[in-house]
Amino acid sequence: MIRVTVWNEFVHEKTRKEAAECYPEGIHNYIADFLKDENIVVRTAYLEQPEHGLTEEVLNETDVLIWWGHKAHDQVKNEVAARVQNHVLAGMGFVVLHSGHHSKPFKLLMGTTCNLKWRDNDRERLWCINPTHPIAKGVPEYIELENEEMYGEQFDIPKPDDIIYLGWFRGGEVFRSGCTFTRGNGKIFYFQPGHETHPTYHNPAIQQIIKNAVLWAAPALSRGKIPVPNFKSLEAGRA
Ligand code: ZN
Repeated sequence: MIRVTVWNEFVHEKTRKEAAECYPEGIHNYIADFLKDENIVVRTAYLEQPEHGLTEEVLNETDVLIWWGHKAHDQVKNEVAARVQNHVLAGMGFVVLHSGHHSKPFKLLMGTTCNLKWRDNDRERLWCINPTHPIAKGVPEYIELENEEMYGEQFDIPKPDDIIYLGWFRGGEVFRSGCTFTRGNGKIFYFQPGHETHPTYHNPAIQQIIKNAVLWAAPALSRGKIPVPNFKSLEAGRA
């Protein structure tokens, strides 16, 4: 079984009618519902909970953490952000959605500003440019999103391991919308679509990509920090 925790700041859905209409129970519960199956168990966590619901115990029992945040990045405690970073380095998968590009844990792991251009209410055509990648499995070559927020280059991230999706917007901008990174033993996927006032996560192809990302990001090794041993030579007679 893959154990997933879906984290959401859960602020817009309580304060904006359009967000509540798309996700009445919150984005975290919506994502949890479409992810659950015979191989994936899901719990949720959100900002208002003690330690934002991300205690050591919860993260120890999490194979893949999904993160949605936007309005309240600065309310996430530094201690919790560093805890997430450490768990990723030790092998926990991390799927960062939409405006999570500016979240504390993602910026800690990237080491850059993660700034980008943006404009709400545009149309996006999301192209797969890496169809052999497991995250693209069973997903159409392109996905039309009638309403999505434009995120445009330059996106200030380190060079990704792989770029799987490229977004094109009606305004003419392009964006590296689906990128993978490795940090320590942890696998990271950043995925751009998912503005809170548009029903993007209702789209079956978008759901498939997030589910594929969970399967891909699940730890490949048993979890634990990379050690720093004094290592004896394998060659006989050498110290
Ligand atoms: Zn947005």
